[in-house]
Amino acid sequence: MDMPVISECSVDDCAYNREHACHALAITVGDTRKAHCDTFFTSASKGGDPDTTGRVGACKVANCRHNAQYECHAPGITVGYVQNEVDCLTFEPA
Ligand code: SF4
Ligand code: SF4
Repeated sequence: MDMPVISECSVDDCAYNREHACHALAITVGDTRKAHCDTFFTSASKGGDPDTTGRVGACKVANCRHNAQYECHAPGITVGYVQNEVDCLTFEPA
């Protein structure tokens, strides 16, 4: 299967974000608590591959309807702030 593309990420202050696009080759979503972007971090310099759009490498959110065997099967996801957390906005309870 192809890894789901990150269609949009509005988190400008993430090191992997340029113009609302993620450029980390593969992010990890989720922890035991909720569907946040586990790859998010801030840095003085930008990282990732500017010529590549990021994808979801792994997702630990088993209670999302798009999740099977800790992998995301959505065609694409969006990421953004929910209050102070950076979350997968495509999450839907199973
Ligand atoms: S999806 Fe995650 S890693 Fe990618 S730019 Fe957004 S916050 Fe950063
Ligand atoms: S849509 Fe669901 S399975 Fe896919 S990354 Fe988001 S929380 Fe994980």
